[in-house]
Amino acid sequence: MSLTLRIDGERWRGHLRSVADAHPGLVPVVKGNGYGFGRPALARRTQWIGTDTIAVGTYTEVPSVFSRYDGDVLVMSPWRPFLPEVRDGSAYDPRIIHTVGRLEDIAELARSQPGARVVIEGLTSMERHGLDRHSLSEAAKLLGRLQLEGFSLHLPMAGDNLDEAEGWIAAQQASQLDTNTVYLSHLTDSELTTLRERRPDVTIRPRIGTDLWLGDRRALRVRASVLDVHEVRRGERVGYRQRAMPRDGHLLVVSGGTAHGVGLEAPTSATSVRQRATSFAKGGLEAAGLALSPFTVAGKQRWFAEPPHMQESMLLLPSSVTPPHVGDDIAVDVRFTITTFDRVEID
Ligand SMILES: *Cc1c(COP(=O)(O)O)cnc(C)c1O
Repeated sequence: MSLTLRIDGERWRGHLRSVADAHPGLVPVVKGNGYGFGRPALARRTQWIGTDTIAVGTYTEVPSVFSRYDGDVLVMSPWRPFLPEVRDGSAYDPRIIHTVGRLEDIAELARSQPGARVVIEGLTSMERHGLDRHSLSEAAKLLGRLQLEGFSLHLPMAGDNLDEAEGWIAAQQASQLDTNTVYLSHLTDSELTTLRERRPDVTIRPRIGTDLWLGDRRALRVRASVLDVHEVRRGERVGYRQRAMPRDGHLLVVSGGTAHGVGLEAPTSATSVRQRATSFAKGGLEAAGLALSPFTVAGKQRWFAEPPHMQESMLLLPSSVTPPHVGDDIAVDVRFTITTFDRVEID
């Protein structure tokens, strides 16, 4: 009994193929929880797509993809001298491409691992990692025998990034950093097309995760099993917290809890906090201290009877709704990048 991701294989593969066809030079991103599918499964799938490079988030993630895929592995998190894999030497393999973004790191890597393959990252308006524009020529001087595989840009997801990408590419081309390959994240399809038209001299390599693996949601269905159903009365106390139920109905115990990432949220912005205050003011079960769950029964999202448990959740279904049976499946709306499924089934 489990939280299951069911993939419509034909539809999903068709989508992957269409994204790959639309993006020559595609670098599939296989990081974190593997977008819900798991990194090893996506690495095998990348082999099937047929690209020559995969991108992972960290050095720690490399072993999980290495044996499932023949091509190169770009590590997007920057090389740092203090990383355990750098210290113990496991970060080095001819298939690994390192991302470097500090002058001192370039010098240190060139000294300790001459011949290592690198991309040099520019510090975009993301303000995450990378060199500023004025350091690019200095970086070129420090490269020594490092093998420069490309220039790398990580752009914000908000707004129009084409001008920034073009500005950076112009700066890199004018610098002594001698490469015509640019690894890019988070340009829209039309921005990528425009960039390719404007810079036919540059090989654009888009790093894409979400729009590739999760871009056709209709190929993906998430189901949870109903494990138990109990009738409850208004005022009856249930669960770890012994919270009094605000109305009559049924308690559904369903698979999927915090261990799966269910009921967890990314920190939200002030706007949505205000939105939540508004819905609180409107009353209803939220005002009774309940939270809306991602589980759907009879076409509607239902309320958690209490915060989700590790492996299961308890939902309160009002008495007006006929409860499902033990063993039935119900739909769940999850954030794939934080969900660990018990099973991934492809048909
Ligand atoms: C995660 C990540 C990506 C892929 O992001 P998606 O939004 O999943 O496509 C690309 N580039 C970098 C540097 C990343 O960290």
